[in-house]
Amino acid sequence: MRLVTHNMLQCHVRGCNVNNYPLQLSEVEIEIQETEFNSQFLRSMIRKLEWSALINSAREIGITTLPEVLPDDFDEDFLRNIHRVLLETHIQQGKMTCPNCNHVYLVRDGIPNMLLNESET
Ligand SMILES: [Zn+2]
Repeated sequence: MRLVTHNMLQCHVRGCNVNNYPLQLSEVEIEIQETEFNSQFLRSMIRKLEWSALINSAREIGITTLPEVLPDDFDEDFLRNIHRVLLETHIQQGKMTCPNCNHVYLVRDGIPNMLLNESET
């Protein structure tokens, strides 16, 4: 699971509708998988991100290279950094905890399991 995916996940336990995003990452195992750099694709993707959630999540997995505020202009260095953080950093194993209800979703073999037990839906 990449951070670009994580950035879109929120808790969906029944009744958990506020403060249920972003899911807090812990006990993660990271793997870097290199992929082709495409600045145009990155530029359009960055606009769709929840930036403050991204920098928090990145910090939770030990990445502290992102600027607090999304710059107006994206230079090459910035894009390369974002490329690494968003597209090449894979969370292989880990836990994602809802900041509201504390429900824990697991990431196993790179795949987030967002399924709930019947009583939670
Ligand atoms: Zn929740």
